[in-house]
Formats: sequence, structure tokens, C-alpha cells
Amino acid sequence: MSAIDALPPLSRVIADHGLSARKSLGQNFLLDLNLTAKIARQAGDLTGCDVLEIGPGPGGLTRGLLAEGARRVLAVEKDSRCIPALEEIAAAYPGRLTVIEGDALEIDPLAHLTPPVRVAANLPYNVGTELLVRWLTPPDWPPFWQSLTLMFQREVAERIVAQPGSKAYGRLAILAQWRCEARIVMALPPGAFTPPPKVASAVVHLTALPEPRFPADAAVLSRVVAAAFNQRRKMLRAALRGLAPDIEEVLRAAGIAPTERAEQVSLEGFCALARTLAAR
Ligand code: SAM
Repeated sequence: MSAIDALPPLSRVIADHGLSARKSLGQNFLLDLNLTAKIARQAGDLTGCDVLEIGPGPGGLTRGLLAEGARRVLAVEKDSRCIPALEEIAAAYPGRLTVIEGDALEIDPLAHLTPPVRVAANLPYNVGTELLVRWLTPPDWPPFWQSLTLMFQREVAERIVAQPGSKAYGRLAILAQWRCEARIVMALPPGAFTPPPKVASAVVHLTALPEPRFPADAAVLSRVVAAAFNQRRKMLRAALRGLAPDIEEVLRAAGIAPTERAEQVSLEGFCALARTLAAR
């Protein structure tokens, strides 16, 4: 019998440890171990990798990650009630699971990780978006992680992989696609979770590219994209007026018509614009 089979079903873990779901912590648990194994497989080949898991809860995905062969899982969980349940998993996989009780937004897990590192999580959505933006904007590239496999509200997942010309296209798409390959790899209905959330979910898999797709300074690109999409209905010559007094010339030099709107500009276009602005 493998270690995963020796552990009790998640419904028992939840009952034994009194893990009634708390809304304040965004707790919507995945109790189907076939499903958590499937999500773990989307994270790629885990053999020889450290996996950072944020928000393990009762440990369904954690069990999937360990069963899929992760060298080590570092799990950061804010809810102290979950820690004893996670320690039972740690005992079933000696030396392979480290549990840290704390807030993922405040803890720096880097000291505990050895490359190569992959990240996997089913997180509350607000924390997930904030962590994603942090992971996509590290001080240096390539980042500490090879890939991110993250559950999001379906609508957020669509914003991450969006293409120009769509309503979902914006800052998140540019941030994600500039230096990553980003794909939606699974769609999950509300009923997959206990309790079910109000909206559908999706798993996004992002792989870090060794180099950005197009050269640009990260800070300048971020400023341009924020300004452009803050006023996404306006023509760029108006939306970007604050960035340069001669913005129409800058736009033309970057190969973009000043009358275009942010939604129509490709990633390549935004990078050209960031380079033109930085070179002035
Ligand atoms: N991964 C588990 C699963 O799939 O069943 C639980 C998912 S539940 C959507 C989110 C988990 O993140 C909960 O266990 C919650 O306590 C935890 N959490 C919420 N905010 C957190 C934070 N800031 N840092 C770490 N964990 C957090």
C-alpha cells in the first residue's frame, strides 16, 4: 500500500480535526484525492523538485504533490487548526513535508527551498492574485521558481491568458505573458469544492521563460501598462499623456497609432513603447 492510501480520507481528516470551513480564510476544500492528484500532475515532473504549496488546508493537494514524487513539499498554512492534520501527512512521508504556520504574504519561504522549485496552490482568490503579481515581478529574472500551478476564479484565469482585442486583456496578461508561458490546464465547477464557491474555477500553469519574450525594462513596462489600462477606453495619446509631453511622437516611434486603445496593443507593442520611453 502506498503512503497516500494509508492516510484517512479527507472527510475524516476534516471531522477529526474540526476543520469546518471558514469564509474569512477563503476555505473551499478539495476532498477528492483523484482530483488533487490530477492537479498535482499539471505541475509537471515533480521528481527532484522542491514544491512550495501555499494554503494546504487539510492537505488534499499536498498528498497529491507527495504521491507525484516531489522531492520535498514546503507548505505554508495560516490556519493553525490545519497543522496537526498536515503533521500526519508529514509522518507518512518522512523528511519530505515541512509545514510552516503563517501568512504567505508575510513569510519569505526562499531560505527553506532548494532549486529547482515549483509552486502549486489552491488559494483564496484575493491572496492568489497578490502572490501571483509578486512571483511575476521578482527583482531578478529568472525567478526562484520554474513553474506556478495555481487555482483561480475562472475569470481571473482568463485574464492571465488573455490576448489583445478581448475584454479580459490587461495588466495581468502582459505581466504573465511577457516572461512566462501561461495556459489554463483545468476547469473546475463550484461543486468540486466543499463548500462550493459562488463561481467556477480554473487551474493556470505558468512556466518561467529564461528570457523575456521582448526586451524592456520591467519598471518602465509596468508603468506604461498600468497607465494604459487604467483608462482603457481612452485613446493611448490621452491615457498616456502623463508619461511624456510628446507622447504622440513616442507612440509613433514605437510603431503604435496614437489613436489606438490599450486593448488593441500587443505585448510586443507595449515592450517597444517601454523601450522608446526609456531611451529618451
Ligand atoms: N489547498 C487546500 C485544498 O485544496 O483543499 C485548501 C484550499 S482553501 C481554498 C485555501 C487555504 O489557504 C485554506 O487552508 C486557508 O486557511 C489558507 N490560507 C488563507 N489565507 C492564507 C494566507 N494568507 N497564507 C497562507 N495560507 C492561507
